[in-house]
Amino acid sequence: MIIMKNKLEKKIKKIALERIDRLMNLAKEEAEKGNWERVKRYVYLARRIAMKVRLKMPKKWKRRFCKKCLTFWIPGKNLRVRVKSKRYPHVVYTCLECGKVYRFPYIREKKEKRKEKNTIQTQ
Ligand SMILES: [Zn+2]
Repeated sequence: MIIMKNKLEKKIKKIALERIDRLMNLAKEEAEKGNWERVKRYVYLARRIAMKVRLKMPKKWKRRFCKKCLTFWIPGKNLRVRVKSKRYPHVVYTCLECGKVYRFPYIREKKEKRKEKNTIQTQ
């Protein structure tokens, strides 16, 4: 019975991931068009699915939106990215929509960028 339950859970998570991916792609499209109300709705739905099935937001999307105001980030437009090396190397993301500041350690960021690049190339 436990095995069956795990299988089902895996299936649900797979479907959930597909839906999150679709919603985030839609959010991206709408963000490019400037339909911010729709963007926030899509991001909200994607996050809600992730929470419901207890999934982490895929790395691909994790740093593409503001957790506070649910805006999909377009660097240079509604997101300011600054690299700081004081105390420890980190990147500062400032959401220009609500002003929330996020700090990410730089080394991990670098690794993820590399990974991101690789996935884009293989797609
Ligand atoms: Zn925000």
